[in-house]
Amino acid sequence: MISWDEYKEEGTIPVATPAPVVEAAQTALQETEKKTEALAPVVEAVVEAAVAPAEAAAPITDTLDNSGFENKSDIDPAIAENIANAANVIANMDVTAGLEELEIGGQRIEVDQKRMINCRADLNQLVPFKYDWAWQKYLDGCANHWMPQEVNMNADIALWKSEDGLSEDERLIIMRSLGYFSTADSLVANNLALAIYRLITNPECRQYILRQAFEEAIHTHAYQYCIESLGMDEGEVFNMYREVPSVAKKASWSLSKTHSLCDPSFNTGTPETDQELLRNLVGFYAVTEGIFFYCGFTQILSMGRRNKMTGVAEQFQYILRDESMHLNFGIDVINQIKLENPHLWSEEFQEEVIQMILEGTQIEIEYARDTMPRGVLGMNAKMMEGYLQFIANRRLAQLGLPEQFPGAQNPFPWMSEIMDLRKEKNFFETRVIEYQTGGALTWD
Ligand code: FE
Repeated sequence: MISWDEYKEEGTIPVATPAPVVEAAQTALQETEKKTEALAPVVEAVVEAAVAPAEAAAPITDTLDNSGFENKSDIDPAIAENIANAANVIANMDVTAGLEELEIGGQRIEVDQKRMINCRADLNQLVPFKYDWAWQKYLDGCANHWMPQEVNMNADIALWKSEDGLSEDERLIIMRSLGYFSTADSLVANNLALAIYRLITNPECRQYILRQAFEEAIHTHAYQYCIESLGMDEGEVFNMYREVPSVAKKASWSLSKTHSLCDPSFNTGTPETDQELLRNLVGFYAVTEGIFFYCGFTQILSMGRRNKMTGVAEQFQYILRDESMHLNFGIDVINQIKLENPHLWSEEFQEEVIQMILEGTQIEIEYARDTMPRGVLGMNAKMMEGYLQFIANRRLAQLGLPEQFPGAQNPFPWMSEIMDLRKEKNFFETRVIEYQTGGALTWD
């Protein structure tokens, strides 16, 4: 990275720029300067006129005559009037009107005033940080930046179009995965932008939510990129969440948790509405991103480990790394809200959350059965059921709730390795080189 001192010493153009380009740029700059000089007295006069409307007509006319323009028709009277109006509005602007909810001259923000929900401190001031973990996740998310077009899809296209490269069961898994995920990340993004962002009253968390929302857009882009690369029927894939029951059930369950919060008149502030927000957070972070993504991810990543559809699998691997961070952020937010509002985490509400996790697990088990009518890729629906029970236990434990599937084991330990945070940091480090060379991930 270049320091400020080095920047000043070395000048502003660090690399050789072709002479014609520089000349053209200089000419353009001179032209712009000339025009700006010519216009300056006009603008000045217009502003003066606006501030003192009684004297308006004469100075504008005089200045137009002296402005260097050959005739007054060079200045469009409508534009001159617009500028005068704008100057008049700004000259008479009431500064307190836009800031009235902030209390002008109020005390500077203390860390102790910051809260996850229902906070009344100024949300436009990022610092001082209260939740360092949220800021760290924002930084980690940015360090993990990637784009779908960086992944080479040539081998996937050849395999998908070959007659006998993939079994029917493998094709079913690919279609279903792209069908579910191509709309699922849009549901998550909509929930973030239209519900969560407004109701989480903490700037460092909002900063991460903005990053997460962009990542959801990248994920939807990645699925679209896969669908387009493979030449799939886009209408069939994108509409699958309305047509295929096992996919529709997942989407419908998630959507049922976002309806009331997306109503612009919804607000937190009572125990009931605060719990409604918690329901949404559990529904989207712990169940949608924390359970509904796991059967499809495991299937596609298993395919990649077997050297099939490696481009699609690489996209899914990048997405899974992002998603594991979304999940962990959501769990931290829920637990912080619990800590600050213990009355919300009643026995009754805990039972409800357990029920939500169990419902999500059941829906995902049904999806596993639908997508794996037989054994495929070294796994089957029964093994996936065990894995999902293991995942459900983890989600419950992360939320401080009792496990519901005693003794559930992880039949796919390689999935945990992919999500392992330390490995994730190695991934970030190698990512810079891979970004420049377009290199691919290797499979264990
Ligand atoms: Fe996500």
